[in-house]
Amino acid sequence: MSYPVTYHCPHCETIVALERDGYLADKAVTPYPFEGWRYADPTEPFEDDAADGVRFACGDSDGVVWAPDEDEADGSRPGCGEPFYLSFVRYENGQEVDPRAESEFVTIDPDPRPSGPGTPDGPDGSGGFW
Ligand SMILES: [Zn+2]
Repeated sequence: MSYPVTYHCPHCETIVALERDGYLADKAVTPYPFEGWRYADPTEPFEDDAADGVRFACGDSDGVVWAPDEDEADGSRPGCGEPFYLSFVRYENGQEVDPRAESEFVTIDPDPRPSGPGTPDGPDGSGGFW
């Protein structure tokens, strides 16, 4: 048995309906691929470890239904054309693989201020307090 599961494009919120097997282990939908994940097109096999996720081209990918709830009467094509990625949960040695390991923690600086108050080489402090 498979049934449609819907996802939102992270760029434009267009809904896509993808036929999935009963077992769902989705991790995230992101505008970029996770490092180390293998992505398949929706028309390729991706269940049962055939891939680690699915790559969509918003509004363009075959094998899925775009904007299933929208009235097609106006003939406009849904989607923004940007790629986005559905990533499944991956396990390695029984541990869930975290795609955000390390790199994101080191690139995000919680305190970007280069110098706080009281830096030793501020403007010459000879004026003191009046
Ligand atoms: Zn889109």
